[in-house]
Amino acid sequence: MNHWDIPDWLEREVKERDRTCIYCGTQMVNQMPPSVPRKAVVTWEHIINDASIVTRENIAGCCVPCNSSKGTKKLSDWIKSSYCKKRGINKDTVAEVVKEALRVQTEQGIVADRHSCISTMRQVKAIIGTLAARKVTMPSPHPRSWSPTFNAT
Ligand SMILES: [Zn+2]
Repeated sequence: MNHWDIPDWLEREVKERDRTCIYCGTQMVNQMPPSVPRKAVVTWEHIINDASIVTRENIAGCCVPCNSSKGTKKLSDWIKSSYCKKRGINKDTVAEVVKEALRVQTEQGIVADRHSCISTMRQVKAIIGTLAARKVTMPSPHPRSWSPTFNAT
């Protein structure tokens, strides 16, 4: 385990897979010989910003500039940032693992929207239920006393 709580086997697997930055494609190095620029050193990245998701789909290697630019931004927002635009990074140029994460995040967004719709419906039903229990009724558009009259004149 390292300080990110990434198990060794996963660290090895990700290092094996992500030899280039998953975002911008910069060639990565694990150690830092003096000749290698600091930005080429691999950093650990949670593609979806949730430290509890420690899977090979969410842990990836990326370069220092990409990591610090993304920070805590949502992947789908960051990919549209000026940093990405300047470097020509978009949903078609990123590594497969990022493309997959973008797809999942979009699906989760749709599911989250559906959930909020459902919870709104529940709230409406709860309000209607409360009103019914208090015997509050909507005023009828046609009070009972009113009835159509016809003048036969
Ligand atoms: Zn990068």
